[in-house]
Amino acid sequence: MTDTAPQPIYLADYTPPNWLVEEVSLTFVLDPRATRVRSTIRFTPNPATTSRDFFLHGEQLKLIRAAIDGAGITPELVDGGLKAEVPGTAFTWESEVEISPQTNTALEGLYMSNGMYCTQCEAEGFRRITFYPDRPDVMAPFKVRIEGDLPVLLSNGNPTGSGDGWAEWHDPWPKPAYLFALVAGELIAREDSFTTMSGKEVDLKLWVRPGDEGKTAFGMEALKASMKWDEQVYGREYDLDIFQIVAVSDFNMGAMENKGLNIFNTSAVLASSKTSTDANFERIEAIIAHEYFHNWTGNRITCRDWFQLSLKEGLTVFRDQQFSGDMRSKAVCRINDVIALRGRQFREDNGPLAHQVQPDSFVEINNFYTATIYEKGAELIGMMKTLVGEEEYYKALDLYFTRHDGEAATIEDWVRVFEDSTGRDLTQFRRWYKQAGTPRLKVMEDFKDGTYTLHFEQETPPTPGQDKKQPQHIPIAVGLIGPNGDEVVPTRVLEMTETKQSFTFDGLGAKPTPSILRHFSAPVIVQRDSSPAERAFLLAHDTDPFNKWEAGRTLAKDVLIAMVTGEDAPLSNYLEALAVMLRDDSLDPAFRALALGLPGQDDLAQTLFDAGVTPDPQKIHRAGETLKQATAEHLHDLLPRLSAEMEVNAPFKPNAEQAGKRALGLELLKLTNRMDGGAAAQALYDKADNMTHRLGALGCLLDVEKGADALADFRSRFDGDALVMDKWFAMQVAHAAPEKAADVTATLTQDPAFNWKNPNRFRAVFGALAMNQAGFHHVSGKAYALTADWLIKLDPVNHQIAARMTTAFETWRRYDADRQDMITSALRRILATDGLSRDSQEMVRRMLG
Ligand code: ZN
Repeated sequence: MTDTAPQPIYLADYTPPNWLVEEVSLTFVLDPRATRVRSTIRFTPNPATTSRDFFLHGEQLKLIRAAIDGAGITPELVDGGLKAEVPGTAFTWESEVEISPQTNTALEGLYMSNGMYCTQCEAEGFRRITFYPDRPDVMAPFKVRIEGDLPVLLSNGNPTGSGDGWAEWHDPWPKPAYLFALVAGELIAREDSFTTMSGKEVDLKLWVRPGDEGKTAFGMEALKASMKWDEQVYGREYDLDIFQIVAVSDFNMGAMENKGLNIFNTSAVLASSKTSTDANFERIEAIIAHEYFHNWTGNRITCRDWFQLSLKEGLTVFRDQQFSGDMRSKAVCRINDVIALRGRQFREDNGPLAHQVQPDSFVEINNFYTATIYEKGAELIGMMKTLVGEEEYYKALDLYFTRHDGEAATIEDWVRVFEDSTGRDLTQFRRWYKQAGTPRLKVMEDFKDGTYTLHFEQETPPTPGQDKKQPQHIPIAVGLIGPNGDEVVPTRVLEMTETKQSFTFDGLGAKPTPSILRHFSAPVIVQRDSSPAERAFLLAHDTDPFNKWEAGRTLAKDVLIAMVTGEDAPLSNYLEALAVMLRDDSLDPAFRALALGLPGQDDLAQTLFDAGVTPDPQKIHRAGETLKQATAEHLHDLLPRLSAEMEVNAPFKPNAEQAGKRALGLELLKLTNRMDGGAAAQALYDKADNMTHRLGALGCLLDVEKGADALADFRSRFDGDALVMDKWFAMQVAHAAPEKAADVTATLTQDPAFNWKNPNRFRAVFGALAMNQAGFHHVSGKAYALTADWLIKLDPVNHQIAARMTTAFETWRRYDADRQDMITSALRRILATDGLSRDSQEMVRRMLG
């Protein structure tokens, strides 16, 4: 048992580095088990500090030799690095170390994936490559020489020379070590070019393994679109002669923004109509944009320390969301972003892992690449934009780029830029960064003599380490709709700063219906008692697409909650409103598809818990089934015609228009499927010419337990394609009935293709199990035990993924005593594992509280 908890580090303890790096040269002599890394680093004293103590990070490095100004030395090897006696003025450090990429299964530092070398240095992986001040406030230009018997040898920056078995690169832009990258292997590039707004020609290369060339076209187009967009919208131009992307099969995250050499999980870049769904295309476009946008928000301006992580991630997510909204449908993108926020961030924010957008302390930074840092961070940027307005927002951004270019900045710097640029006082707004938890916003109203008043009350529940919360500065976008359905007051942003606050609207002829929190203007939970009739009215008349969708969503939620708690469910209001909306062909099919989707089971569980009801995952699941069945029956007559209208009679394109039709078509198929026992789904599967249809049809067949033939067919078609086989695994778990989910999962783990050391494959199976709420929380407790077994097995191989996947258990406090016992004993069993990584230890300890 690991009794002593690993020690946290604190934001308050930040001190600047004693030594700065003027320039780095690295030489790699590649070998699977004995790569040599030689470094030459020019250090200069930091005038901002007085201490000249010298420490370099280093982990799992075999030190061969070290020298200062050419004279050999023997440094003192200490925990996590080395110390040495150094001169009081600038000096040159040299070292040579040996590392073993072949045996590096953690996928952090230099490792091998399918015979190719690649690196992952964020957050603290560079210290597994060589001794270095591995902290983001030390920025330096890098020169890299790679020697190895491989055709393609890549690093950051511009190429400066190459020959047989070697290549040299120079990155002139000072960068922190976490943005370093190296790739070597047998790779093939799709090549293209981009002319920047000032007329500079940039070479673009997207590198893949032989065989994947046919999946690169979409990624390249997305890259060019991103480059153009960042020029047009933010005035940001690319700054090297070449920009490269490499696809890697073994990768812990989605992708990484290394300067000029982005490294991508294959799942986040490779796309083709036969192998990728519309959702995959959309995600790929967003991630390519995200990593490209980091060139300015992350690389040119980086983070002073890891407590500032949301400075680059929140802003870059916000930018990629804006981009997707411009490329596709703004409304649909916003709704999808909010669905994701509620599904992941609200879940996190309302459980034992809740933390601030700017944490005060952490044990392992890898555990803080979370929905809170990323997605809530992006919501904060969006609120600032709402508060200052479009024009002021871009002015502030210009100031941010000029003031902090080339620096390692802080979140405080960011907020101050907004204050200086706009003249607004954002003192209270800063609380959003420092207070964890999702505010609850209670809304009441009254109407008298033509004056309508909205009364708001805000309260943020306690989160770990933060019992008492101060009121937040909440921008509440509100519009009012008159009784005849016309908008009588267009969107206005109310700024709530007090715990309780009221806002009045004068001169109204009749009591209006309020449309509150339009565009989801703040990451809060609105609590408002409202009649089913009013929700249906808003679904029909709201001019704000987000709130129109939200009205239907809330109505569905009311129905489901009532079904679970045994109250009267407003079923007919819901079904009638849904039928009207579905028939309205002025509405984007993608929007209608979203309106047909039900709130997540996890969201319902949280809502019940908030209302003081212990959620029963089985009951929630059954309510969903009942409602879907009732919907299928109610819409029965409509289905054939509507389904026919959604057919795409043109060659496949992954654009928003076609994707919307396919999305609605598949939502309708799910309903038809309940009535025809899988006949239509089988027909679609048989004629499918794209993965969206093939996978959608397969899901329907699995739902009615008629998927065996299709599964076998699917496997034989795609056996050699790892990304598609990930879907084959995930689908079976996702569509397993609650009582079967654990067994289906256990069986799949015995499949010879269950290559569990590959993060995509592991996640395909265990991520799907965690998301199959009723299956994961089935009373047998089998899924808990199985997940714990596998996390224990994975932890020594890949601590990052193991730690991350423990979040499957994060909602345990909501449930009944039996489930709580089963989950906590699973967690304790993980914690009791000998040699458990600090990553997993931190997560489990935080969850147990
Ligand atoms: Zn990012």
